[in-house]
Amino acid sequence: MALQSFIEVKPDSHFSIHNLPYGVFKPQPDSSPRPGVAIGDYVLDLSEIAKAGLFNGPILKDSDCFLQPNLNKLLALGKPAWKDARATLQRLLSSTEATLRDNANLRQKALVPMGKVEMILPIAIGDYTDFFSSMHHAKNCGTIFRGPQNPVPPNWFHLPIAYHGRASSIVISGTDIIRPRGQGPPSGNSPPPFGPSQKLDFELEMAAVVGPGNELGKPIDVNQAADHIFGVVLMNDWSARDIQAWEYVPLGPFLGKSFGTTISPWIVTLDALEPFACDAPKQDPQPLPYLAEKISKNYDISLEVQIKPAGQQDSCVVTRSNFKHLYWTLTQQLAHHTINGCNLRPGDLLGTGTISGPEPDSLGCLLELTWNGTKQLSLNGTTRKFLEDGDEVIFTGFCKGNGYCVGFGTCSGKILPSAP
Ligand code: MN
Repeated sequence: MALQSFIEVKPDSHFSIHNLPYGVFKPQPDSSPRPGVAIGDYVLDLSEIAKAGLFNGPILKDSDCFLQPNLNKLLALGKPAWKDARATLQRLLSSTEATLRDNANLRQKALVPMGKVEMILPIAIGDYTDFFSSMHHAKNCGTIFRGPQNPVPPNWFHLPIAYHGRASSIVISGTDIIRPRGQGPPSGNSPPPFGPSQKLDFELEMAAVVGPGNELGKPIDVNQAADHIFGVVLMNDWSARDIQAWEYVPLGPFLGKSFGTTISPWIVTLDALEPFACDAPKQDPQPLPYLAEKISKNYDISLEVQIKPAGQQDSCVVTRSNFKHLYWTLTQQLAHHTINGCNLRPGDLLGTGTISGPEPDSLGCLLELTWNGTKQLSLNGTTRKFLEDGDEVIFTGFCKGNGYCVGFGTCSGKILPSAP
């Protein structure tokens, strides 16, 4: 019989005992932030579990990593500590273990209804990098901007392309996004137009959370790269396509991206995703030896984007994609990032890039869905080319097991009008 928790978890809940994703929360508005894991409709307060002395393995016994306002200390401890924590928590939450189940006082302190807590950013993010790893997305963008002849530049098949993003504007799901203002492409000899972005978009992405880093000058081997990844979140890399189109030559994205990036509050660990591992697409040409992996792994994670149009009650699905469509794997991205000697640090965030699938209803941004605003997308009786003020964008993602789910919850944000 499958592992069961003494806490009731509905079969379609994202937060089964097989998941146990990590976040940071405040049980009351004035409480200090502390780490927790999600289980059913509850958050288990790990500071209470630590104070009760229940993390008693050799690494975690004397660690104060669960008494911190973020997860960076746990991330730095690496895989043996993560495995130990997961085993302890699965045991404590299982239906057959009495320690927590039969201790009313501890349950009262440590299990908080999820509806009551405030989730905050779970990690202190030093650096954020955004890759461009979906071939379908790269092909579509290339076709839109440069035409159908050779839409994907020749370097794309040899290296996971990326740019350095802005860590300071990464926000937690539920945070409003103010429409950015900026310059757009001029028409003819006119000066560039300036004002609120007219082409505000979402990008359906996921992002890897870096665990132990590497020393400056010492690259991480691609076959060891998985040991440096704690887990994965949903990520919306909001994009102002007009600002981006005008500014991006020759140095790449800047103000068209750095006004806001939203992540989901729960980090799903690679251990929880392991049962959903699948083969990554075959790479042709063969990657260079430093990117050639013994096992090239993706994960079967169903992804969905909904838009709740301004003023409406109901949201509408606009795309369904899957993490498994990525061409470059998370481990190749991480190894490539360090091959020049660049050092990663615990809590760094590596975005995958927009995850588009091969089908017209699996495209990961409005740029592709409306072909840069040349066609309308219909939603609940209204239409959109790009996002309007008051629109809310909601991502979700999950893996379906046999009678249980390993899910990411949601990653959402609403557009507010530009500052005057
Ligand atoms: Mn992006």
